[in-house]
Amino acid sequence: MHYPTPIAKLIESYMKLPGIGAKTAARLAFYTIDMKEDDVTEFAKALISVKRDLHYCDVCGNITESAVCSICQDTSRDKSVVLVVEESKDVMSMEKMREYRGQYHVLHGVLSPMDGTGPDDINITSLIQRLHNDEINEVIIATNATTEGEATAMYLSRLIKPAGIKVTRLAHGLSVGSDIEYADEVTLLKAVEGRREM
Ligand SMILES: [Zn+2]
Repeated sequence: MHYPTPIAKLIESYMKLPGIGAKTAARLAFYTIDMKEDDVTEFAKALISVKRDLHYCDVCGNITESAVCSICQDTSRDKSVVLVVEESKDVMSMEKMREYRGQYHVLHGVLSPMDGTGPDDINITSLIQRLHNDEINEVIIATNATTEGEATAMYLSRLIKPAGIKVTRLAHGLSVGSDIEYADEVTLLKAVEGRREM
């Protein structure tokens, strides 16, 4: 049996989301048919809005609605420390901890020779530019404790240290292979406090 085209298309779209297979996608599609029209409209608008109204901060690469994000605009924050993360969601995790008061830099990925992701494919150039221009004296590398995350940390360390800037890596209360996203606030705080020089 073939699904009518609108359902087939919706199933196809849901299947593009991570962790959603054909069965779940079909269930979600049929659920959507039964939703109130207003709710579906809101849903569709929200999907379009995250792509149209959000972009990357000119300074740090974090997602923002304005040219420069609220963290970069906050003059009360320490300008001498930059914490480097893989994704914008890691900034959210760090901010939940409420202890870190420095700057961020979002790479939007990690180096991965297997996937063909090299230094030019992630947000490294603007990080190096920031280090030239700003009063930064420490870079904390908070990429995840995966093979790619570690390789990226090593690469950045080799790139940054010759400029005389201290490079540190989060302590691994975070277990190997774990994502910052899933670490609780206490673990994250300990990881930042126990950071070691690379
Ligand atoms: Zn920013």
